[in-house]
Amino acid sequence: MTTTQQGTHGYEDLYPDVRRASTIDPGTVRQWDAADPLAAFRSRFAPAPEGLVFLNGASLGRLPAATADATDALVRGEWGDRLAEARTQWLDLPQRVGDELAVTVLGARPGEVVASDCTSVNLYKLGAAALRDRPGAVVLDDDNFPTDQYVLTGLAEEYGREARLVRTDPDRGPQPEQLRLAVEGGAALVSLSLVSHRSGALADMRAVQEIAHAAGALVLWDLSHAVGALPLHLTALGADLAVGSTYKHLCGGPGAPALLYVREELHSRLTQPVRGWYGHRDQLAMRHDFHPDPSIRRFLTGSPPVLSLAALRPAARLLGEAGLERIRAKSTALTGLFQRLAAELLSPYGFRLAGPSDPAARGGHLTYAHDRARALVPLIAERAGVLVDYGVPDRIRVSPAPLSTRFEDVYEAAHRIHRVLEEESA
Ligand SMILES: *Cc1c(COP(=O)(O)O)cnc(C)c1O
Repeated sequence: MTTTQQGTHGYEDLYPDVRRASTIDPGTVRQWDAADPLAAFRSRFAPAPEGLVFLNGASLGRLPAATADATDALVRGEWGDRLAEARTQWLDLPQRVGDELAVTVLGARPGEVVASDCTSVNLYKLGAAALRDRPGAVVLDDDNFPTDQYVLTGLAEEYGREARLVRTDPDRGPQPEQLRLAVEGGAALVSLSLVSHRSGALADMRAVQEIAHAAGALVLWDLSHAVGALPLHLTALGADLAVGSTYKHLCGGPGAPALLYVREELHSRLTQPVRGWYGHRDQLAMRHDFHPDPSIRRFLTGSPPVLSLAALRPAARLLGEAGLERIRAKSTALTGLFQRLAAELLSPYGFRLAGPSDPAARGGHLTYAHDRARALVPLIAERAGVLVDYGVPDRIRVSPAPLSTRFEDVYEAAHRIHRVLEEESA
């Protein structure tokens, strides 16, 4: 599917059209770096070990320098010095961090987002909420991240629903025609990733929702590879439900709590099955009977991971400060540069682009197929000092994080990988 909702809104002009540049040499890329309006953000991250190039931002985003101070202040100051006195301030932390995410990276309204649990658990809660609300099938796709498939087929089993699997081309992502067929006769829930974890294909949020809504279904988006990589407009596009990881492009750190979004108009009619005191409308009254809170809190269960929430905040603020439109504009320029260099330097050695070739039709990463991908990824790390991701069975994922990666880094990485392949084949 192509995108209509996530253009860069004129911010393309901030960066060169790398696909049309006449020559690309070290001088050219250094000029691009010198003119980069986001260049200063590089120093806001903990420095990378000398000589390493990180092109794996889709796995675990880099450490923002402010994060270590924020977590240290929380551990020593709040926990160490103020002890239990600080505890009540943490009761609404999932919501406060959720509000920040809503405004900085999701295009949602305050009160529609919490940061809690992990993506799998949030998928379970919101998928169940949809099935408790309406009859019909669960529609999912077979190229989605495995946890999504496990949770959704498990829910279908638990609630006695049909699970309809869209067979997706792993390079192109699910197509609207396929979805139209899958929802025929009605459905309760359609759940897809906005950006495919494999190919990077970007789904058309508006088109998917139109098809699903016409069939009576709610749409549950997994934003794991979208959030922090491109501007989102959940409210403006009328998104129903969403979940997603915050430790990938969003740089929230290992174990960062996942996001959970529910459109405000749906709060009063949806309930989730994992009841706990954090979802109670009168949490501290310690009552025996359960009454869900009227707000987004009804989707919470128990004590939040306070340390991880503290680590997530500086990252969300950093991305918000840079602005997702600018981040997206630089991201498409960086992936476009890698794509162009790879076509010239790496394709003779068996690298095949396995995802959309138009940067506007994908998220923040590029995927290549190579029949020796599994062996090449560690070899590239060891000999070239370039970190990319391996994905089964034969994929290599390349994700240059826009705030911490220079054009020079991408140029250098492509050439170093080329040298490794050349040595290898000699
Ligand atoms: C990374 C990722 C997850 C991770 O789920 P957790 O439960 O947070 O471990 C889920 N779905 C998708 C699409 C992902 O990319």
